[in-house]
Amino acid sequence: MSDAPLRLRFAPSPTGFFHVGGARTALYNWVLAKRLGGTFVLRIEDTDEARNSPEWTQGIIDALAWLEISADDPAFEGPYFQSRHRDAHIAAARKLFDTGQAYYCDLTSEQIAERAKASGVQGYDGSSRDRGLGPGPGHVLRFRVPDGETIVEDLVRGRVEFNNDTIEDFVLLRSNGSPMFLLANVVDDMDEKINLVIRAEEHLPNTPKQQLLWDALGEPPPQWAHVPVLVNEQRKKLSKRRDKVALEQYRDEGYVMGAMRNYLMTLGWAPAGDQEIVAWSQIEGEFTLDAVNRSPAFFDLKKLAAFNGEYIRMMSREEFAHAARPFVDAWFAANPQATMNESWLATMLPLLQTRIVTLAEVPAQIDFLFIGDPVIDDDSWAKAMKDPAPQVLADVISAYAQTPWNADALKDTLDAVGQTYGLKLGKTQAPIRVAVTGQRVGPPLFEPLELLGRDETIRRLQAAATRIASTR
Ligand code: GLU
Repeated sequence: MSDAPLRLRFAPSPTGFFHVGGARTALYNWVLAKRLGGTFVLRIEDTDEARNSPEWTQGIIDALAWLEISADDPAFEGPYFQSRHRDAHIAAARKLFDTGQAYYCDLTSEQIAERAKASGVQGYDGSSRDRGLGPGPGHVLRFRVPDGETIVEDLVRGRVEFNNDTIEDFVLLRSNGSPMFLLANVVDDMDEKINLVIRAEEHLPNTPKQQLLWDALGEPPPQWAHVPVLVNEQRKKLSKRRDKVALEQYRDEGYVMGAMRNYLMTLGWAPAGDQEIVAWSQIEGEFTLDAVNRSPAFFDLKKLAAFNGEYIRMMSREEFAHAARPFVDAWFAANPQATMNESWLATMLPLLQTRIVTLAEVPAQIDFLFIGDPVIDDDSWAKAMKDPAPQVLADVISAYAQTPWNADALKDTLDAVGQTYGLKLGKTQAPIRVAVTGQRVGPPLFEPLELLGRDETIRRLQAAATRIASTR
């Protein structure tokens, strides 16, 4: 590579949610820009008017900001919008036409298909090459693919050879004059002085065509690095129809940025040592493209969840409280009858931090504290209230009328009741937990009982005893 300063770009099309694969590509570009003192250019490829929308563009910008690929960082440049550079795309096409490297063709797709059928050779046969057509209705501009072979030196995939016979004379301008992706993408890379293109492997087949365009336009092509596709558990390429691919969705479900960013980096690459969960500074210090794997990378939801739980546990109490807050607030907004108690929340959060996998689990673990009567579904009720649970419940109600009201005493008292029935603590707790919280599983029980207080706890236990009596 030349000594020119490193310029990379991330060039998403704003046609849908921000795909986790796109996020991984963005991160690879970003990490190298940061590590090597290069520039990360954001280019929004918004030329597909039917499919793109400003909302998707904003989604990309927000998602990048969430990943701390920040527009305020000196390494960040853009966003540029491809649609605003249409004149440059057309001027490049014109240059190719003027120099005889592109030509107009008036064949319809039916005619092309007929010719292919007759000759037995797939694709467009170049039959308009020397017809001397100019622009006109129904005319597309095609690139005249030269003879020979095109060699792509890819930093991940190594040397990839393409025989030019296998590349048809591809379209540069549609018959309505609009530039095609292959052309617009190259011209923008050229104008933005991009010298390293890191992108998804699915673009590898485009690369010889694009490299030929660079040559034809008289500029040295960038270095290429095509990163492996992401696949699901069935080893099928992640798709938005089949799989959960939207970064926004993970964010909204309470995956934390650090975990997501670290996990995405490991899809095709691994930090040195046995640990995959590592500080971002280590990733920035170590990441190189030649260490990126060629084989498809499994987007493993279980592993992502494990990363997330680990990152949640690594947070300080304050960080966790801050991170959980939006999820708690959203729950209160949706449950206006509930009453917030900040000090109870502060007591409960550390108990949850070690137990949850995503932040979105927080409200359901503590909601019973803030609403008068927990909702108990029939299944949980039936399972928890099997004999001798009704007797245990009655005994606990009596015992709790006198116990000193603190978590330790509440636990010991309950345990003592259970022992008279030969029950372990977990079993004794079950009907009490369901009666008070509405759930069969949840955070430690006795701290919240202490918070709720004797009257409210006994009131809930009584309500359960009444329900039992009424169903006998
Ligand atoms: N806009 C293209 C896409 O989203 C990216 C092209 C590229 O990275 O060269 O797939």
